[in-house]
Amino acid sequence: MPLSWTAIVRVVVLLLMAAHVFYFYAFARAPQEIVGVDFPAILASSAFALVMLVPLAWAVVLPDLPEIVRNHRARGRWQRGRCSSCNYLLLYEQGANCPECGTSRDEPGSFEFGWSTVQRFVLLAAAAWMVGCIGAESWAVLDEVAFAREGEMYVSTATTKDAYSRPRRWPSQDQTLYFSSRGVTAFAPQLVLDQPPVYSGLSTK
Ligand SMILES: [Zn+2]
Repeated sequence: MPLSWTAIVRVVVLLLMAAHVFYFYAFARAPQEIVGVDFPAILASSAFALVMLVPLAWAVVLPDLPEIVRNHRARGRWQRGRCSSCNYLLLYEQGANCPECGTSRDEPGSFEFGWSTVQRFVLLAAAAWMVGCIGAESWAVLDEVAFAREGEMYVSTATTKDAYSRPRRWPSQDQTLYFSSRGVTAFAPQLVLDQPPVYSGLSTK
């Protein structure tokens, strides 16, 4: 049970940090007006997301919270004259160990904030950074691929001369994707971001 709480808390911390990274990666990527996998944009966005992880350093002890609670309770049991592990009443017992579970009767050490706590947090943050960046990049590129298909569909069926456009997917919905039939190839249609939706205003990437 205590082990599973540790795992749950760490997974939750990982997911929250990954969501944080996802958001700020998307936040940095959208205004760069790039479409598709673009390495300078990936570098810039992931660097920005990494910097935005720094303010989360306050949460460094969060992954160790179950351990801190467990340690606090073990010390409480010990102070009440009970086994720090199984709560067996030891006041009238002899011997160096608990007769029930064999745990030493010595005072359990208090939780020490140290390098292992920092290392654990940095590892979780690094994992969250990777998950968040890969997730946000994939999310944006998949949206662009879906949009290109919509655009091709639109151009092949539309009776008007309007360019096809729609907002990007959350969380970059303030940015708009545009599609024009001019110069469109099968895999690289003209997609211009954050421009007025008129044919003459479109520029190629
Ligand atoms: Zn015991």
